[in-house]
Parts: sequence; C-alpha cells; structure tokens
Amino acid sequence: MAFPHAQVVVVGAGPVGLMLACEVALHGVPVVVLERLPAIEWRPKAEGITGRAIDIMDRRGLMVGVTEAPAMPLTAAQEARIAEGERRPDSLLPKAFPGARHFATMFLLRPESPDLLVPQQLLEEDLARRAADLGIEVRRGHTVTGLTQDDDRVRLDVDGPDGPYRMEADWLAGCDGGRSVVRKLSDIAFPGTDGVTSGYRAFAEIDDPGFHLPGWFRKDGGLLVYEERPPRFITLEFDGPPANRDAPITLEEFQEALRRLSGTKVTVTEVKKITRFTDNARQAETYRSGRVLLAGDAAHVHSHWSGPGLRLGLGDALNLGWKLAAVARGWCHEDLLDTYTSERHPIGAQTLEIQRASIALMRPGPYVDALRRLLTELLLRDEANRQLTSLVDDLHISYDMGDPALTGPLAGRYSPDLRLRCADGPVRLAELQRTGRALLLDLGAGPELRALAEPWADRVDVVTAECDEAPADALLIRPDGFVAWSPPAGPASLRGALTRWFGRPDRRLANE
Ligand SMILES: Cc1cc2nc3c(=O)[nH]c(=O)nc-3n(C[C@H](O)[C@H](O)[C@H](O)COP(=O)(O)OP(=O)(O)OC[C@H]3O[C@@H](n4cnc5c(N)ncnc54)[C@H](O)[C@@H]3O)c2cc1C
Repeated sequence: MAFPHAQVVVVGAGPVGLMLACEVALHGVPVVVLERLPAIEWRPKAEGITGRAIDIMDRRGLMVGVTEAPAMPLTAAQEARIAEGERRPDSLLPKAFPGARHFATMFLLRPESPDLLVPQQLLEEDLARRAADLGIEVRRGHTVTGLTQDDDRVRLDVDGPDGPYRMEADWLAGCDGGRSVVRKLSDIAFPGTDGVTSGYRAFAEIDDPGFHLPGWFRKDGGLLVYEERPPRFITLEFDGPPANRDAPITLEEFQEALRRLSGTKVTVTEVKKITRFTDNARQAETYRSGRVLLAGDAAHVHSHWSGPGLRLGLGDALNLGWKLAAVARGWCHEDLLDTYTSERHPIGAQTLEIQRASIALMRPGPYVDALRRLLTELLLRDEANRQLTSLVDDLHISYDMGDPALTGPLAGRYSPDLRLRCADGPVRLAELQRTGRALLLDLGAGPELRALAEPWADRVDVVTAECDEAPADALLIRPDGFVAWSPPAGPASLRGALTRWFGRPDRRLANE
C-alpha cells in the first residue's frame, strides 16, 4: 500500500526544527514539518540569542528589526532598592565590567557582540514566517507516535487532528526536543549524567514586594533571582532533580522554594507563568542512524545557564541543512551526512562539559566560594576572559576539512564577516550568504580559478570582490560559513573540495 510521501520530514517546529526546515528548503527540497502543539507555546524558555547564533541570524537575514521590549520604567524607590541589592555581599550582579554576561552566575564575560535579549517565541514566530515564505508545510497538531526505517525510506505513524495516519519520507530529522520520540524509536542511546539541581522560572505576584532586595543572589541553598517590574523569579537549589518533572507546579511548592532561599515568610498570591528545570546532561551517541538524524535538544540536553541551548541547536541546523538538501537532491552521496555527527558531536560534548563545570561552580558553600574567587582573578585577565567567552559563545569552533596542504591554512575556520566591494557596490559577506548557497569568493585570484567552479554553478555562487582585509586571494565558503578551501592550496585541490562538499557536478536527481 502506498502512503503519502515527503522527501524530508522534520519532527518538531521548535526553533531548531523550523531553522533546519528553512535551511533544507533554501535548496529547493520540499519539507514537511510535523508539530505536536497546535500553536507556539508562551511559557518561560530561552530569553535571548547569544554568541555565534547572533551571527547565524545575520547570515540568514533573520530577526531583522526584532528588538528587545523596552524595560518597564522604575520608580525612584525601586532604583534605590536595586542599588542597595547590588551592594549586598551576596549580590552576583556585575562589579568588574558593567554590562558583562555571566558564566556560572559570575558576571565577568565580555561578549564580542551584544546579546539579543528576546523571548525564544519571537524567534519561533520569525522562523515560522520564513518557513511560510519558503512554502514549507508546517502541520500543527500532528504528533509522531511510531517510526520504522529500511534502506529506502522512513515510515511514520502520526496522530493528527483528524485521526491517525501513516506517511513515508526519504529522510527524517528529529528536532522534537529533549525527550525526543524520534531518538527513542530509533534506538539511539542517550548517555549522560542525572541532574543535581531543581529550580523554577516564574512570573508571579507576591503580597510583600519588599520581601527581598531585587537582583541575583548567592544563597546558602543555591541561587535567588528577583526582579520587581514585572515580578520575575528564578530559584535554584542543590537538592537533586524534581521527583516528577511533569507534575503540575503548585503555587505552594514555588512559595516554599522562595521561602527557603530568602529566609522570609513571603506569600505568593498568583503564578502567571512558571516552568521547572534541572541540569541533566545527556548526548545522543550518534546524530545519525541510517535515514534518521537528530538536531537540537533531541541530540543533547544540559543545564540552560548561560544560554547554550539555542546557540548549539541553531548551529546543528546550519551544519545539517545544506548537507541533507545535497543528499536529498542526489548531488552528494549519503556519506556526507556522517560529517554532521563528526563535526557537531564534539561541539555538543564540549558544551555538556562546560555546563557541568558551570553547575559545579554554582554550588553553595565555602569551598566553591574559594574556587569562584580564584576564577574571578583569572577572568579579570584579558586573555583568559577572551578564551572563556569564545568557548562559551561557540566562537572557537573549527572543523577538520582534511589535509591542510590540500585545503589551505584557513580551511575549517569560520569566515569573518568581510566587508566587500563588488561590481554592484559594497556588501558584507553575511549578506551574500542569505541565500544559503555555498560561495567561491574571488578576492584577486582571477578568472581561471572562477572558471573551475563553473560546473557547480547550480549549487555554488561565484563572486568577485575587493576586500581591504582579504585573508587570502580566494575562499570557498560552505553554506554554514566555514571555509572549505583557500590558497595557497592549488586549483586541483579546489576541484577536490568542491566535489567533496557539493558533489560531482554531473550528479542530479533522476527526475531533473
Ligand atoms: C526554563 C528554560 C529556560 C531556558 N533558557 C535558555 C536560554 O536562556 N538560552 C538558551 O539558548 N536556551 C535556553 N533554554 C533551552 C532552549 O529553550 C532549548 O535549547 C530550545 O528550545 C531547543 O530547541 P529545539 O527546537 O531543539 O527543541 P524544542 O524547543 O523543545 O522544540 C521541540 C518541538 O518538538 C515538538 N514535539 C515533541 N515531540 C513531538 C512529537 N512526537 N511529534 C511532533 N512534535 C513533537 C514539541 O512540541 C516542540 O515544539 C531554556 C529552556 C528552558 C526550559
């Protein structure tokens, strides 16, 4: 019996699933997205986009004009209380560098580009608009319940608004979050460590706004964050993971956490929005099993302190999207998809390590106090500060592109956003990458080199430009922004790099 068929199905319309779907669709491959929820869910989640993810947005023209909500005006009395809070010895708010970002609640990091502090849902809305523009079919209210695969296809059982149905796909991407059904049904192991903390993020009303000074505070039991306008709280306690993460959160249990941490008898009168969280850190053993791939939280979970989740997941989507499209179009052999695991799995593993270290540094007690003082001394030094910021922001990433003698010294590095002068006028590299296509940038190499890329014209753009800060005479840049080849590696090796990443030019889908 023939079932409805799609070339690529993405399970999950969270930020990573939508981003991945858009990346695949940019290359003309039809995508269907299956999402359990009927609409975007407005509960507390990520509150900002940081580090490399900001650059990713720029290189795809996303979140343009989306700005932070203006802060609610404060009364003079509230400003005085904030200042008083900052002077308390247990205050964590920045003392060394105004505007610093925190690592393990130590406000010491100096990011290269300012964070975009917007709720995750605004990103999801922007991506949903882009997906609609690209003609992606996003089916909301459709839950994947079953999955099998053979050499040729993946078969899915889906529970839709009109009842259960089956469909088939050539390729399936599980972007269905930390408890991924796709991962479980594909028997991909998810080893790691259990959480040691539990906490709440909440917007709530209390009957005594003076119960505590506003700010971020290191407490005997963990951490207390309190902001007054609107009343917003984060609690963190080192009492093990929640017994049941899915149990409804009662006002009383949240109030007890506030009382324990603040040492007051505060009364919570209303909870508007609340989530509970922990810090279990797990990573899928592989990101690919045959025709099934995993990205985002489905591939890795970890504590969300310092906000690595979105950055890591969007990075996965950017790495996988063009590869999946190239395989789906028949340009490349499916082995290309193995480079997704080999490139992204180590980055995920490193993030888990950083997040475990950050939880260790947030434990209460004099031993960790001493460790934090030591680390503060180190992070006041420019070099150490730069290194940690770059690590936390994913700016350090480079990939193995093969023998440097054949690929050039810049291969594997992320290309900086070069300011270029083309025949049509000035343009930034990020703007040229908005199509999602690969780029051969001729910065003085000449027509012979450009001619080499002509057979790949349907998948690689060739652009001639002048650039005052040109790092080489030419750069072959993958759609994810990483350099695949640069001189002095020679023309023959350019052909090799084009073939390795973008396939043989004579390879096409049978129906093209
Ligand atoms: C309280 C909290 C605070 C956070 N703070 C930050 C932060 O400050 N910065 C940061 O970067 N990250 C933060 N994170 C993490 C961030 O929210 C996640 O990393 C991000 O949502 C991952 O995106 P995703 O698309 O991989 O998964 P998700 O956002 O979980 O999306 C998965 C989607 O799949 C759908 N789905 C699940 N199962 C099925 C199924 N069987 N069939 C169909 N659809 C399905 C779900 O409904 C969901 O829409 C926070 C998370 C929480 C909970």
